[in-house]
Amino acid sequence: MSTPYTTNNAGIPVESDAHSLTVGSDGPILLQDHYLIEKMAQFNRERVPERVVHAKGAGAYGVFEVTNDVSQFTKADLFQPGKRTRMLARFSTVAGEMGSPDTWRDPRGFALKFYTELGNFDLVGNNTPIFFVRDPIKFQDFIRSQKRRPDNGLRDNDMQWDFWTLSPESAHMVTWLMGDRGIPKTYRHMNGYGSHTYMWINGAGEKFWVKYHFKTDQGIDFLTQEEADHLAGADTDCHRRDLFTSIKRGEHPSWSLKVQVMPFDDAADYRFNPFDLTKVWPHGDYPLIDVGRMTLNENPEDYFVHIEQAAFEPSNMIPGIGPSPDKMLLGRLFSYADTHRYRIGPNYTQLPPNRPHVPVHSYAKDGPMRFEPARTGAPYAPNSYGGPEADLTRFGEPAGWETAGAMVREPYKLHREDDDWGQAGTQVRQVLDDAARARLVSNVSGHLKNGVSAPILERALQYWRNIDKEVGDSIAANVNGG
Ligand code: NDP
Repeated sequence: MSTPYTTNNAGIPVESDAHSLTVGSDGPILLQDHYLIEKMAQFNRERVPERVVHAKGAGAYGVFEVTNDVSQFTKADLFQPGKRTRMLARFSTVAGEMGSPDTWRDPRGFALKFYTELGNFDLVGNNTPIFFVRDPIKFQDFIRSQKRRPDNGLRDNDMQWDFWTLSPESAHMVTWLMGDRGIPKTYRHMNGYGSHTYMWINGAGEKFWVKYHFKTDQGIDFLTQEEADHLAGADTDCHRRDLFTSIKRGEHPSWSLKVQVMPFDDAADYRFNPFDLTKVWPHGDYPLIDVGRMTLNENPEDYFVHIEQAAFEPSNMIPGIGPSPDKMLLGRLFSYADTHRYRIGPNYTQLPPNRPHVPVHSYAKDGPMRFEPARTGAPYAPNSYGGPEADLTRFGEPAGWETAGAMVREPYKLHREDDDWGQAGTQVRQVLDDAARARLVSNVSGHLKNGVSAPILERALQYWRNIDKEVGDSIAANVNGG
């Protein structure tokens, strides 16, 4: 096959990629060298703004297969027996910028998009079942404490511990972050969690509360702080490389999806507030139920097109799935679509990774970079020209709950066993073995010894004693002992 000839963006054959059009061999350059100008202008516009969080990532396409019948809990298309659904996954760090090392200690994003027969379902989770804060009004402050200072442009442990110790609801998540799972060995060796509580609705209209757990079939594995520090310089992109090369080799990573299901009426009296994102539902209370398996089997043809432009949004929920009173989730329902409109434009749902695999009959129209014609007959509803009609009888099952009360700014209602330290303490004492606890102590001590100032340091030591007296004392001994 002969080599294709180069064209400009209009498909016109170009003369040279080596020499600009000049007057004589020594110039000057001519303005009518449109190809040169197109190359320079295109280059200047290659970047879209990076994501304000989760900027550095990697992703792949795959398939989700149902292996167990959960139709008694949800009528959602992708969870019906025998279903196979095409999907996209993107994993990421959170605080680091686009070129930052994959091995910085950080939670990892675990964002999924399922192209179902009733439109896109997105599950935008992390590799942690919990989070640092429980109210979306604190999210921006939290993230700023993790990113760079305005004065010197540096990240700063002092800011991090200042925020965490003034926000004790962070204790459970910080315990997680500072433990082994704070630096996964690769993206393939970590679990994913929906983290929030969601609603499931079955064919009879019955409602349940649900939490998603994607357990890695590769096994959990992690990097020590020393290994991660080395890799941060030796192979900055090691997690992106690992995902791409393992799929290329034909080693397709997979995760088994399990769910915890809570009957709708249990929520009111459960021992923990089941909508508080800083808490898990212990497995002893709500055991894991098998659902299916997701397998990543196809690398993106073009990283920018398919992964950089991928736009996940928790508001993409299909019939059979709904939100819960989790305040963080309710905040995210607005925030994600909003950031996509800013980052990649209002018609982002037409881009290859985001467009549904079913026909779109939306009355949305126009706007920058729109290339799909609106096929609604008339640009308004209702109309007399055969345009689509919303179908309340088929899709009108309300994904909601009853609520009433005065308008307030208040914390969640405390349930019997709710506090900020309890589940963090359980993790330290009952989940970690001696070696993992020792690594936790070492990781925290190392972090605290690196630029945390006196009053905040004292608060941090008390924070750890509140989680677990022994662990707190060990950290204090390390920090004070030099
Ligand atoms: P279980 O003993 O049933 O579950 C403990 C969980 O801890 C397992 O899911 C395990 O995940 C996970 N785990 C194991 N090692 C670590 C580690 N180094 N860092 C973080 N998590 C780890 O107990 P409960 O359900 O009663 O929960 C006890 C505590 O376990 C909780 O307070 C919470 O901190 C933590 N946890 C609970 C989860 C839940 O949804 N209930 C989920 C994850 C953690 P795996 O099986 O994948 O290895």
